[in-house]
Order: sequence, then C-alpha cells, then structure tokens
Amino acid sequence: MPRVTTDATPTEAMRSEALAVARALRAAGYEALLCGGAVRDALLGRAPTDYDVATSATPEQGAALFPEAVLVGAQFGVLVLPREAGDVEVATFRSDDAYVDGRRPTGVTFSDPPTDAQRRDFTVNGLFEDPETGAILDHVDGLPDVKRRLVRAIGDPAARFREDHLRILRAVRFAVQLGFAIDPGTMDAIRELAPLVREVSSERLRDELTKLLRHGRGTGLRMLRDAGLLPHVLPEIDAMQGVPQPPNFHPEGDVFVHTCLVLDGARLPEGGEAQPSKEDESVLLWACLLHDIAKPPTKSVDPDGRIRFNGHDKLGVEMSEAILERFKFPNRVIERVGNLIRAHIQIASTPDMRPARLRRFLADPDIEMHLALHAADCGASHGDMRILEFCRGQLAAYADEPIVPAPLLTGADLLAMGFAQGPRIGEILRWVQDGQLEGTILDSEDAARRVRERFSAPTGEDPRG
Ligand code: ATP
Ligand code: MG
Repeated sequence: MPRVTTDATPTEAMRSEALAVARALRAAGYEALLCGGAVRDALLGRAPTDYDVATSATPEQGAALFPEAVLVGAQFGVLVLPREAGDVEVATFRSDDAYVDGRRPTGVTFSDPPTDAQRRDFTVNGLFEDPETGAILDHVDGLPDVKRRLVRAIGDPAARFREDHLRILRAVRFAVQLGFAIDPGTMDAIRELAPLVREVSSERLRDELTKLLRHGRGTGLRMLRDAGLLPHVLPEIDAMQGVPQPPNFHPEGDVFVHTCLVLDGARLPEGGEAQPSKEDESVLLWACLLHDIAKPPTKSVDPDGRIRFNGHDKLGVEMSEAILERFKFPNRVIERVGNLIRAHIQIASTPDMRPARLRRFLADPDIEMHLALHAADCGASHGDMRILEFCRGQLAAYADEPIVPAPLLTGADLLAMGFAQGPRIGEILRWVQDGQLEGTILDSEDAARRVRERFSAPTGEDPRG
C-alpha cells in the first residue's frame, strides 16, 4: 500500500490517499474506481483539484468501512473522507431518476460503472481508472475526445442541459479550463438553451462564474459572450459591448474589450507575509470584472466629441453591490470589491494627494489589491505605470515605520480634557491625525496644546487653562 511520504507533491499525496481508499473498498469486496476530473486531468498531465472514487458499496457500507466519513448530499448519499492531503469523495455507482426544476434528480438508483458513466455530464468527465492497473475504462467514448481536446455532452446535449441547466456553464468552464473546443452539437444546444441559465440558483452560478474567471480570465468572459450566455448571466457586462472609450486613454477598444484585457492581466499580489486566499482571488477577479460596470449608464459625449463617464466609480460601487448581492456573495467580499472600485479612479491622483490622505490610502489593508487592480487596468489600456511606481515608492519609504502611526490623542484624552461625548470628538481626532500625518503636530503634548487653541473651550474650563 503506498504511503503518503512527506516529499510527495500535493497531487501525488492526494492521489495516494484516493488510491488507498479505492484499495480498501476493494479489499472489503466492493468495486472501486477513480473517476471524474482526476482521471481526465491525469491523462492530460494536469494536476487534479480533487479526487473522486466511484464504488459499488452503498453509502452505509462505505460509512461502516470509514468511520471518519462525513455524509454529504443527504438525499443521495456521497461520502467525504477527510484526508490531510485533501478530501476524497466516495459516491456509489448510480443512475439519476427524473430531473426536477432543472437542477436535481428526484432520486437515484444504485447501479454499475457503465450506467454511472452515462449520468455524468461530458465524455471527458465520464472516464474511470482502475486503481490497481491504471487501466482506463471508457464507457462513453471519452478517450478520443481527450485526444481531440473536445468538450462533448454524454448523450443528447439538449436533453442533458434541460436536466441540469448548470451543465451549460460547466461546458464553457471546462473548455476554458482545459483549453478544449466545444463539440459543435454541444455548442448548438448551449446557444439554443442559453436562457435556461437564468434558472440556475445564485450560489451555483456564482461558484461556476468564479471558476470560469479563475481558470479562463478574459477568455472565460469572451467565451460566455460567444456562447450567447452573457445577456442571461451578466446583462450589465453584456451592455459594455460597443460602448466606445476615449482612444487616447483606451487604444484597445470598447469597455467590454478593456474589461477582458484587465481580467487577462490580473495578478494576485505575491511575496507578502500571507499567501493570497481563495477570497482574495475572488475579490480581485470580480473587481476586475466589475470595475467599469457603470461606464455604459454614465457615458456622455461633450460637444467636441470627447467621451466621458462621470461618476462611474461611485455608481459602479452601487451596481457592483447589487450584482454581488444577487449572486449571494458574502458581505465581506461585497465590501472589499466595492472598496476597490470606489478607489480605482482616485488612485490616479495619489501623487497630488496631501500626505494625510495619501498615507491613509496606503494604509488600506487592501492596498496590494488596489495596486493589482490598477496595474491590470493600466496594462489593459494606456500602459502607463507611473502611478503604480509612485505608490510602490511611497510604500517602500514607509517600510520601517507604520504608515499611519498610533494616534497622539485618543477619545479618552479629549474627554479628560473636558470635551463632551459626541461627533465632535471624532472631528477633533481626525484633525489631530491629519496634523500628525502631515508632520505639523509633533507629539501628544503639542497635540493637546493645539487642540485647546483651536477648538472651542470645553465647558467650564478656560481654553488656555
Ligand atoms: P474540477 O474538479 O476540476 O472542477 P471535475 O470534473 O472533477 O472537475 P467536479 O465538479 O469535481 O468536476 O465533479 C466530479 C465529476 O462528477 C465530474 O467529472 C462529472 O463526472 C460529475 N459531475 C459533476 N457535476 C455534474 C453535473 N452537474 N452533471 C453531471 N455530472 C456531473
Ligand atoms: Mg473534481
């Protein structure tokens, strides 16, 4: 039995875990095969994201064998086996009963490998691998499609898309992720049934679109457009097509072309203390996608022909909030994306900002994300990176000191000085911090003196006390 060794790559370690699970099932007398993306990706020389095992053991039998198993998909019983290298999913060979609401079968019937292969979505996803011999079991003519690099629905594409509408988007996502073409028959069905994606739940749409952007960047968006899906999943992005921009700043073309290029150029910040998380990635990708979302509704043309998008940053925040809420993104993601969009124009005036404002902006916990969006935005248009270099230079200058240091005075200090509780306290503190950041107020004593000088006397006290 293969041991998971410490020098194995994450993929090797995950594969060893999945093989160990399959062998344990076989040793107990059940059939067990690797299936899904892991088989496909191994054939393509790609690192699989997760490992799935298909077995003749029922969920109850599997759970008896693996006490640590967690039962998911309560209705149809899939076991998740938590492993250090990554979860292994174990599902019983099955065929789906009739589908309801374009999403899920009314039930499942446990079956055998050839029947199980038929209920899977695309031929390249319907292959099995024998865990002992490594032999590929192909019940769906998937191997030729792997060679031809083709995403093709198993069975009648239209019928499969009517069963589960998410498959329409999955087809596009796999094409982009794998660099495959979509089979013409499958593509015809996608175009014909595109409006059905409107019925997919917000959460499934959100996750699938995020995967599409992660794996495909701008190409994912172009594919959505080419497949006729854009008006149904992201009408606000569809509206960007054909919206012209000032050619001196945007030689690349219209707002849609620009947005695709920004996505293409999006690079997550690296080299910091913390590695970017999945959430960081979503935030950056959706911020790139939505940063100019309000350009179509704000476009105006001056008498001299100059195109303007006044206020598209502010309206863009509102629109992005509405869109991300529609997709049921967590509030944190909505706030972070809004913060990036709000600043994406202002960042161009950083060299002209007063030090206090500049330092507050540079101290934003998402500053690296602001810079990542800005770099992608510039790279996708005029290519001028001077603002980026300016901000980098400023950040480097504060490498050894806090950009926004601890305050010279606190609210408690002001109360002790006799000021009354209320919004004025906040105003005074901000004024003191401005002075501190601009270098005009030097220390706490200086701050207290200047506050007494400038702000009206606290009740019952001599201002110059
Ligand atoms: P990746 O993990 O890289 O996204 P994958 O092919 O492993 O790709 P999963 O979503 O992990 O995709 O699903 C595992 C397998 O389950 C798929 O390969 C496919 O055979 C089957 N499957 C998943 N979702 C569906 C669906 N909506 N309809 C039919 N079969 C599906
Ligand atoms: Mg998978």
